[in-house]
Order: sequence, then structure tokens, then C-alpha cells
Amino acid sequence: MKENKKGILIVISGFSGAGKGTLVKELLRRHGEDYCLSVSMTTRTPRPGERDGVEYFFTDREHFEDTIARDGLIEYASYCGNYYGTPKAYVEERLSEGRNVILEIEIQGALKIKDRFPESLLIFVTPPNAEELKRRLEGRGTESEEVIASRLARAAEESKGVEFYDYLVVNDKLEESAEEVHHLVAAARRAPVRREEFVKGIREELHSFAKGAQE
Ligand code: 5GP
Repeated sequence: MKENKKGILIVISGFSGAGKGTLVKELLRRHGEDYCLSVSMTTRTPRPGERDGVEYFFTDREHFEDTIARDGLIEYASYCGNYYGTPKAYVEERLSEGRNVILEIEIQGALKIKDRFPESLLIFVTPPNAEELKRRLEGRGTESEEVIASRLARAAEESKGVEFYDYLVVNDKLEESAEEVHHLVAAARRAPVRREEFVKGIREELHSFAKGAQE
């Protein structure tokens, strides 16, 4: 029976400070062979230690807008004064190779992806409570008070959109959360909408058996 060779597009969102970056790193450390991580393009300035082409492709507004105009992004959004977007070619190539691709993006982008790729899997990562979120943001030590306040305000806004996601993962214990995401992906791959070729194949065979029996 033919199986669907296409990978699945996994969107991971979460409040800034929810630890989704660390969670994705842990997932890749444990199951790297099963996933590819898309590197986004952004106009935000790099944080200390961030490298161009690794955490992000860092660029300016002019180049970003030019990439939008050339249809080079599958989605983009403005977040706390900066542009963030997903380069198209990498995602399309990996999916057609049968790989699962992870996009670590915010909610506006996630909704655009769901619209464009209805069979994508949307996972929302949250800390156990709001106090913990604030503590993690402050503990990071890389952002000014103003930026932290704007990210908390944004989190309050984003909390309204959580119901659009397929699953919610409470990121309390890193290893467990990474395994939970891995299991959710495995389950999602078994859904009939993501096994179209298999369903089509078995349906055709059953129809031909039924036809043969009638003749
Ligand atoms: P940060 O500045 O903390 O790296 O990212 C800010 C927010 O932008 C995070 O919620 C992150 O997931 C999101 N983000 C990163 N890349 C993209 C992208 O390509 N598209 C969208 N829509 N959001 C992104």
C-alpha cells in the first residue's frame, strides 16, 4: 500500500519566554533525524551569541520587504516592532523530501500557515503559569524592562488565540515536554487527512474487490 511520502509541517508557538526554543532544541537533540528546523528571517538585531543563518537570517527592512515582494516567504508577521518571516524554498524542499519541518513562529504567522496548509499541526507551548513566564523573561537578562513589558503585553494578547491550536503543551519539565511533542507529531501523522495516499489506495482496492464480487 502506498504511503504519503510528504512530511508534516509542525508549527510551534508560545508566549515569549515559554521556553519553546529550548524545547525545540531538546526535541532535535533527542530525535534530530525526524525533524528539520526552519530558520526564519528577521529585522530584529541579534542577541549576544546569536549567529546569522543559525538562530535567524538577520536582515534589514528593505531586504525583508524585497523578499516579501518576490514571494520568498510562506508567511511573515510584525512582532514588537520587527518583521519575522519563514523562507519558502527550504520548507517546500524538505516537505517534498518527506521530512517533518518545524516552524517556531508567533500566532499571526501560525494562523496564516493553517490557512495555507490545512494539514499542518499547530502546537502551543506555555509555562505552567504567568508568574513563571515573567520570571523566565526577566531571568534571561538580555532584554530591557521596556522590551519585557511589551512581550508580556503581547503574551496577554496571544493568550486569546490559544484555542486555534491543535494541542497545548505545558512546558514544566523539558525532557517530558519534548517527548510529548514527539508523540503528538507521531499521532498526527496517523490521522487520515495526512495519509491521503494510503486511504486512496485501500479505497480503490476495496472498490475493485467489491466490483469483482458482483461480476
Ligand atoms: P524572538 O525575538 O524572541 O526571537 O522572537 C519573537 C517571536 O517571533 C517569537 O514568538 C518567535 O516564535 C516569532 N518568530 C520567529 N520567527 C518567526 C517567523 O518566521 N514568522 C513568524 N510569524 N514569527 C516568528
